[in-house]
Amino acid sequence: MRTVRLEKIIETVEKLAIESCYIAKKEMTEKIDNALKIETSDLGKHVLEKLLENAQIAEKEWIPYCQDTGVAIIFVELGEEVIFDSPGFIDALNEGVRRGYKKGYLRKSIVNDPLRRENTGDNTPAIVHIKLVKGDRLRIKFCARGSGSENMSKVKMLKPAEGWEGIKSFVLETVKEAGPNPCPPIIIGLGIGGNLEKVPLLAKNALYRGIGSEHRETFYTEKEKELLEEINNLGIGPQGMGGRVTALEVHIEEAPCHIGSLPVAVVIECHAHRYREVEL
Ligand code: SF4
Repeated sequence: MRTVRLEKIIETVEKLAIESCYIAKKEMTEKIDNALKIETSDLGKHVLEKLLENAQIAEKEWIPYCQDTGVAIIFVELGEEVIFDSPGFIDALNEGVRRGYKKGYLRKSIVNDPLRRENTGDNTPAIVHIKLVKGDRLRIKFCARGSGSENMSKVKMLKPAEGWEGIKSFVLETVKEAGPNPCPPIIIGLGIGGNLEKVPLLAKNALYRGIGSEHRETFYTEKEKELLEEINNLGIGPQGMGGRVTALEVHIEEAPCHIGSLPVAVVIECHAHRYREVEL
């Protein structure tokens, strides 16, 4: 067994929250830089240049690169051989979020009740997903999700006979309807299979798979490429100003499902794509 101090968890989450909101991921800025070579519209190119400039200013002046610093989502891979030095693991994750959002002057965006809507004042509670894994490793992935992109995401239960063509039209419809709202260029996390509660989680996991990564099976890699091409044929372009680069990547994650179902979830992510992960 390996013992992990909860104070270490708090410090780690605090750091991840600030870094993910202040420093654009290098892979993401490289992706946008490459997109400049593909973009055909002058306005689209101008927008992409502004996004790169924004990321540079945020890092240099140590400020968040988007005002919506989002809901904190934390994915944990918890080894079966890990124990903590005291009770309260979830409290520690929330304390890290609380400290990070306070210290980093990140916008507090969480209301305590969806209808009564009083701000909790510290951006907690975080949304936490814990997966038990073998061994003694502890991996924490922190993601900040703004509402602009989250609100444009969708789940649908298709008929199995609708197949890949049905999935494609659902994704394209969702992206078209979203237009400029999720701040393109976007990344698509596409969940296929499972059931109603599992499929959005597949899509979120796919989304945070890592920029530049490919699906482990060629069957799905080809589908990711096909969908990316069709999304970029829509002409929405950077920030919805028109152009070639609407999406940068499509990530698929699939799971077994019922013979009578074809669950699909489309998670749209904005260009900010804020996440960080560490293994403790
Ligand atoms: S969609 Fe993303 S980039 Fe746009 S305002 Fe929301 S968090 Fe910021």
